[in-house]
Amino acid sequence: MVAGERLARYGFPDGHPFGQDRHAAFFAEFSKRGLDKRVRVVETRAATREELESFHTAEYVGLVAERSLTGQGYLDAGDTPAWRGVYEAAADVVGATLLAAEEIMAGRVRRAFIPIAGLHHAARTGAAGFCVFNDCGVAVEMLRRNHGLKRIAYVDIDAHHGDGVFYGFESDPDLIFADIHEDGRYLYPGTGTAHETGRGAAAGTKLNIPVPPGADNTVFDAEWPRVLAHLRKFEPEFILLQAGADSVEGDPITHMRFSASVHERAARDLSRLADEFGHGRVLGTGGGGYNRINLAQAWSGVVQGLI
Ligand SMILES: [Zn+2]
Repeated sequence: MVAGERLARYGFPDGHPFGQDRHAAFFAEFSKRGLDKRVRVVETRAATREELESFHTAEYVGLVAERSLTGQGYLDAGDTPAWRGVYEAAADVVGATLLAAEEIMAGRVRRAFIPIAGLHHAARTGAAGFCVFNDCGVAVEMLRRNHGLKRIAYVDIDAHHGDGVFYGFESDPDLIFADIHEDGRYLYPGTGTAHETGRGAAAGTKLNIPVPPGADNTVFDAEWPRVLAHLRKFEPEFILLQAGADSVEGDPITHMRFSASVHERAARDLSRLADEFGHGRVLGTGGGGYNRINLAQAWSGVVQGLI
């Protein structure tokens, strides 16, 4: 697992739902369950500018660097405020995901989890929805560049649609995408209809499963096998899981009603699937989640599922 003080710094000030206290809330539950005795925990590293620019445009990376110096203004239309040091904190999140991916590819670990990561709204050209740099998007590009992987899967059970990843790879037939999220008619970012399956040569490689507000475990149990079947069809060489805890009942900004056990199950099923594919590679990220009790339980469950 990649965690620690540097990663905890990615959070927004002044009572923002994505506050810096999310890391500590998770870590207390992780330790309470004795997971700190079973999992190696390492500090993150900073992603380099070159790594960030494998997914993001140089113009956008430059804008974040500039706003980070003054801490003034927004990085998008008004959801994602800049703060002093935002560039370094966001580059540390991307570095965590890259470090975990490298450890997996080196065969030092089979799976990994990063609580503060999975910033799935950030687009190639800009920030969105509390997400500055898209660590999953950068990881896909770097896994291809450094390790020659071709087919990579991205699975997302956050309440919000993973639009930054989806549109970042919409025409890319080798990014296998599956996303269960609250219907965009009721929740930000409003995208991810079932008709969005990928463009051109990528048609059919993307699976969007919008579910109604109030969707509970019964809905998850009915839809989840479609995700597993989608991955089986393409046999990806690496699986990224964005395990946003805002799909658990009681989140202050969404309307979904999964229980935290869903997150553990998702991690466990994907781990078994990756073992079935012969490589075992699953990298989990925490994503969203604004109820501190929910995120602590869902993410600790993910760690248990990955083990
Ligand atoms: Zn979310």
